[in-house]
Amino acid sequence: MGRVYNFSAGPAAIPLEVLEQAQREMLDWNGSGMSVMEMSHRGKDYMSIAEKADADLRALMAIPANYKVLFLQGGASAQFSMIPMNLLAGKKSADYINTGAWSKKAISEAKKFCAPKIAATTEADKFMRAPAAAELKLDADAAYVHYTPNETIGGVEFPYVPATGEIPLIADMSSTILSRPIDVSKFGLIYAGAQKNIGPAGMAVVIIREDLIGKAPEGTPTMLDYKTHAAEGSMYNTPPTYTWYIAGLVFAWLLKNGGIPAMGAINERKAKKLYAAIDGSGFYKNPVEVGSRSWMNVPFTLAKPELDETFLKEAKKAGLVTLKGHRSVGGMRASIYNALPEAGVDALISFMKDFAQRNG
Ligand code: PMP
Repeated sequence: MGRVYNFSAGPAAIPLEVLEQAQREMLDWNGSGMSVMEMSHRGKDYMSIAEKADADLRALMAIPANYKVLFLQGGASAQFSMIPMNLLAGKKSADYINTGAWSKKAISEAKKFCAPKIAATTEADKFMRAPAAAELKLDADAAYVHYTPNETIGGVEFPYVPATGEIPLIADMSSTILSRPIDVSKFGLIYAGAQKNIGPAGMAVVIIREDLIGKAPEGTPTMLDYKTHAAEGSMYNTPPTYTWYIAGLVFAWLLKNGGIPAMGAINERKAKKLYAAIDGSGFYKNPVEVGSRSWMNVPFTLAKPELDETFLKEAKKAGLVTLKGHRSVGGMRASIYNALPEAGVDALISFMKDFAQRNG
């Protein structure tokens, strides 16, 4: 079988066991005589799949009972507007922490609904670090505080959760959800596009504290109101059924493999050895401040950028693919989400060492 190690930032690798299970169940799910794709979302079979995914995610993240889990369309990007639409609740502003490309997108969308205040920005440092807790200037009148715990493009991750007191904390966890233990009760709302640590593209998972539901002003489109989806178990209309099903298989796979604490330990180890290989090479460089380095997305450059294409070509031959950096930064980026096995990181490190020796 020609499976490669796929370092894509998203859509990203899916655990092999999950793909194999989906393959086994493709033509006939559990004796139903049909694939999950072909099922009515309101039928008993599909309802059991959907409910198990919800329950498993709750178990994995220890989601408190006063939070709803929503499985929504529009990806993480739709949340950039749904958040201000639903959570401003008559207030004039919200706080945003600006740490790079994805926070900027959230901020520019928020501007359509309010005057967002920048609680901190690391733009002067080219977004190469997360701001320290002491740098955050929080407005006591803000409707909420929004931040991006992991910037997928910059490879910058917060080593702490900002303390916002009574003001709801909103987190775009697209590229960090399920990668390390977090205390959900510190957040008002957590959202994530599915296509990295959750499953296939086409869905966002939203975890929302119940008191934040039902605050959208009158006139809010039905599909963009959290209340609609919370009231209908994310089945107001036809949900992305197959993506939700695969997400459920991923959640079950995580539970079977020790849950988030076990995954967090592996992720920390994977990241540490990759950064150590970069720092010790004299050939590769990662520009991010050590304390803010992402466990999930590891950008790096070569001492000789003219070798980028050769690096990518040879890596591909070695079964290591999608290492090209984001078009806005160039260089390389290795995304090492839960489904990218430690052996894949080991293989990348030994390829990088060999390449540096031959070309350094
Ligand atoms: N936020 C972050 C941190 C992301 O990495 C991405 C996608 N790369 C998005 C938002 C946008 O997600 P989507 O494509 O699901 O809209």
